[in-house]
Amino acid sequence: MKKVPFVTKEQVEEIVKTYPTPFHIYDEKGIIENVENLKKAFSWNPGYQEFFAVKATPNPFLMKILNDHGCGCDCSSLTELQLSTAIGVSGRDIMFSSNDTPAEEYAYAAEIGATINLDDITHIEFLEGILGKLPETISCRFNPGGYFSIANSIMDNPGDAKYGFTTEQMFEGFRILKEKGVKHFGIHAFLASNTVTNDYYPELARQLFTLAVKLKEETGADITFINLSGGIGIPYRPDQEPNDIFVIGEGVHKAYDEILVPAGMENVAIFTELGRYMLAPYGHLITKAIHEKHTHKEYIGVDACAVNLMRPAMYGAYHHITVLGKEDAPSDHVYDVTGSLCENNDKFAIDRQLPEIEKGDYLAIHDTGAHGFSMGYNYNGKLRSAELLLKADGSVQLIRRAETPMDYFATFDPFPVYETLKEINS
Ligand SMILES: *Cc1c(COP(=O)(O)O)cnc(C)c1O
Repeated sequence: MKKVPFVTKEQVEEIVKTYPTPFHIYDEKGIIENVENLKKAFSWNPGYQEFFAVKATPNPFLMKILNDHGCGCDCSSLTELQLSTAIGVSGRDIMFSSNDTPAEEYAYAAEIGATINLDDITHIEFLEGILGKLPETISCRFNPGGYFSIANSIMDNPGDAKYGFTTEQMFEGFRILKEKGVKHFGIHAFLASNTVTNDYYPELARQLFTLAVKLKEETGADITFINLSGGIGIPYRPDQEPNDIFVIGEGVHKAYDEILVPAGMENVAIFTELGRYMLAPYGHLITKAIHEKHTHKEYIGVDACAVNLMRPAMYGAYHHITVLGKEDAPSDHVYDVTGSLCENNDKFAIDRQLPEIEKGDYLAIHDTGAHGFSMGYNYNGKLRSAELLLKADGSVQLIRRAETPMDYFATFDPFPVYETLKEINS
């Protein structure tokens, strides 16, 4: 499928008069259409709820748009819990799916009434030690080990993942939790990431539903929700077929009717914790070509770098690039598109066929709406960019300003050098 940016060259030329490149921009209209379709796809389940995985894009404006459309927040750290609290999300609308969790984060999660999803059987005692008494509702994260396959093709390797309880630990954990007075239970699993297939959720659902029936039979636990977590992917490459969320919803529905309903578990709510699927396609990193270099290869140097989008450097991930205004020009040049870090992996594209790029051209790097800005860092003293929202009415709103050098120096605040840095920047 041809990947078309949601902004034009003309729009970007207008935006940069106020907000210079690089910046991430998000498409409100696309976000809302997508979340409404997700809800429709799972509307057969009265208790269905999406808890947006905050780590994907921890921006309160975007979290609020999703919350206005019924999504809760899935958090994994203190600051994510605090961001959710700050936009008015509370109690059961917060899922706390953390691992290797510090005591103070459990304490805060319990204080705000979030549902706690335990990552390990030893955390039962750890949590009880912190809270005195366990909450009435607890979820446990399941990891069956081995490989996760669909129709003989391996999708991911849970056996190598640090997360979750083993099968035996799920049974033992539920028994212990019941003895300790826990009344309602959830089951959670995240067994494959960025799946571009309609079969992942239905297959995961089958495994979790089967486990839920056994857990109920053997421990008598009241299982109130099953959390399919994240993992629904998006087509980063133009040759990939996008997922069909309605087919996915129906696949889960079928498994539900075949496994849970006959076991008398027709009131179990389905939860999801999607991050990438919710926002990735609705974000672009907009950057300007500032240099061209002809050496052993052809290079285009842009004003963004890996601190603004780490996925290509970290995972070799493909992010599609459109040269704005040259959407229909032939891709008859081959470039490495680089940032300015002193790291040779700071490349947004390697040997990529693109139209001829001239200095001053604007590039839209696609699918940066999730795990984009949020993975940013400050290596080489580089600063985080602004985030902008292209609103449904066509206007543009600043939803996070760009960092300044003084933000970068802020943690020197109590020291004399801070005053000198302030003078330099004044
Ligand atoms: C990262 C994460 C998610 C979201 O994953 P996506 O791939 O963005 O859908 C959901 N739940 C947990 C526990 C996570 O760690």
